[in-house]
Amino acid sequence: MAEINASVSEEILAICRETLGDLESFTPLHEPSFRGNEWKYVKECIDTGWVSTAGSYVEQFEKKLAEFCGVRRAVATCSGTAALHVLLKVAGLNAGDEVIIPSLTFVATANAVAYCGGIPHFADSEEDTLGIDPQRLRKHLEDLTEIREGVCYNKSTGRPIKILLPVHIFGHPCKIDELQAVAKDFHLALVEDAAESLGSYYKGEHTGKRGIGAALSFNGNKTITTGAGGAVITNDEDLADRLKHIASTAKQPHRWEYIHDEVGYNYRMSNINAALGCAQIESLPQMLEEKRSLAKRYQSNFAASPNVRFFSEPQDCRSNYWLCCIILETQCATELESVLEATNSNQIMTRPIWRPLHQLPMFQDSPQMSLETVESLSKRVLNIPSSAKLAPQGVY
Ligand SMILES: *Cc1c(COP(=O)(O)O)cnc(C)c1O
Repeated sequence: MAEINASVSEEILAICRETLGDLESFTPLHEPSFRGNEWKYVKECIDTGWVSTAGSYVEQFEKKLAEFCGVRRAVATCSGTAALHVLLKVAGLNAGDEVIIPSLTFVATANAVAYCGGIPHFADSEEDTLGIDPQRLRKHLEDLTEIREGVCYNKSTGRPIKILLPVHIFGHPCKIDELQAVAKDFHLALVEDAAESLGSYYKGEHTGKRGIGAALSFNGNKTITTGAGGAVITNDEDLADRLKHIASTAKQPHRWEYIHDEVGYNYRMSNINAALGCAQIESLPQMLEEKRSLAKRYQSNFAASPNVRFFSEPQDCRSNYWLCCIILETQCATELESVLEATNSNQIMTRPIWRPLHQLPMFQDSPQMSLETVESLSKRVLNIPSSAKLAPQGVY
């Protein structure tokens, strides 16, 4: 038994080393990369005094972002969580409504639902995409819900289910065609958590364009960073205006009066953060190429392993490979701890996937479907170093 232990973790360590080359220091999962105009743009904010929520970089960043994603509008916010919160609010989420989200996601997805007084209703994931399993979700909703006057009700809790909120996990697009059909058939609004999937495409189309809108994140560990920040992308101009209004304390435009027409939020992105974002988005295409070439190198180096599989982009998708991950075969699930130990003790940061949200104290009483794939994946998925700068030299 001890021998098998050693072999799985040693094999993974060896493949990571082969892929990443000689590492001089501890290699984190994801480091930001500043290689362009970051310093110049941020310095300009300071030199001109435009450092806060007014200033030209915020609008510029919103424009560049909308253009990159191929949507009409982007509204920049102070975090991805804030973007998701205001988006859910304008999507009509009220206290006591349920929202379908995966259990296997970052906690912010569920927190944003809770900020609105909503209740997360956990869906199972699938091995193909790591996102919500559309077929099993459909079956679950057929058994559990009834439609009354155009509203979907959970028969066991009596509460309305209002929104389907899928997540593109680690930048891999989920099966959005099928999920969109489920949302339509059960009268659910579709909102996407695309926090991890800037630069990821489903059937040639940028992620985050199927629903009312999508939330992005530019936290320090995301594909591009504004320090802290987020955005909503949408094709709905009125929705974008409304988002901007409530994210800016709901202040009515006026030259000197301070009049606010509802409870708003101080969620706007600052000009300094947006200046960073403007520079980062200029480098985004190159960083995506680098991240994809690193993923390709991992993929071929892990290909022969009987113990572990490198997770590659789903069919018909082009992923940003925000965080690369490997999945232990079921018979090796017991080795998770030893793999974490071996890699983290040898300069290579690895991390298990998030603790499933239905297991966290604040969400353990939330409604859920049977979550067997989440239970299994959560014991087998590991993230491995994924920074753009780790790409093999000379391939891009
Ligand atoms: C990062 C992330 C968020 C939240 O973004 P912040 O900018 O950290 O608030 C939301 N959802 C998912 C899936 C994320 O990975």
